[in-house]
Amino acid sequence: MKTISRRDLLTKASWFGTTFAVGLPLAAKAAEPAQSQLPPATKPSLKVVVTGGHPGDPEYGCGGTVARYTDLGHDVVLLYLNKGEWTDRPSYDPGPVRVAEAKKACEILKARPLFAGQIDGKAIVDAAHYHQFHQLLEAEQPNVVFTHWPIDNHPDHRAISLLVYEAWLRMGKKFALYYYEVSNGEDTLQFAPTHYVDVTAMEPRKRSACYAHASQSPDKFYALQEMVAKMRGLESGHKQAEGYIRHVQSPDFQLPLAS
Ligand SMILES: [Zn+2]
Repeated sequence: MKTISRRDLLTKASWFGTTFAVGLPLAAKAAEPAQSQLPPATKPSLKVVVTGGHPGDPEYGCGGTVARYTDLGHDVVLLYLNKGEWTDRPSYDPGPVRVAEAKKACEILKARPLFAGQIDGKAIVDAAHYHQFHQLLEAEQPNVVFTHWPIDNHPDHRAISLLVYEAWLRMGKKFALYYYEVSNGEDTLQFAPTHYVDVTAMEPRKRSACYAHASQSPDKFYALQEMVAKMRGLESGHKQAEGYIRHVQSPDFQLPLAS
């Protein structure tokens, strides 16, 4: 006879129950959380913030996971470090186009876009921007934040990873912190996932959200990211998966992540 653990009872009795309803496996390898770590039972959903250096990064790296979260009724914000604009090239200012593309991608994923106000290719990480970014995340009160893995060939990706990390420290490490990959081998490097999310069923929506960034060569970059998703799928036993690295000190909220 199957033993029902305290965790099973808790999950079935609370907002985690929805994860069972659709068969989403939990992060089974994570440690048993203390009850004090669990969100209040009255809170109906998670606040999830997926940060990216540019419009499109969260969609390419985490689009399938975002779709799974929003389908479960969780509140997801895609927080972009910049609007993809190049102010040093006034004759070519794609900012408004990139913003419109980001809004369309968010509509497809049922997420909300948010912009941190920096300039594409000119990311600044200093005391003032640590403060500003901390305030931004503090206002969102996330349960979970996803950000770029910091070993990355793009300075904007590295920048937002550092900004998130500092905010996480200043907020007492109270939200779960996960790292994701984009264009592994071209941008992200040395990425070895600790968690996988099966995104096979979400592939059409993820593809649509990525292709919403029509000005950003989606034929090239989606093909590259799809190779990554298939590789992570091979590793984890799915057709396509998104891989994540959980920060070792991240609180365990029993996220609806694949094992
Ligand atoms: Zn980027």
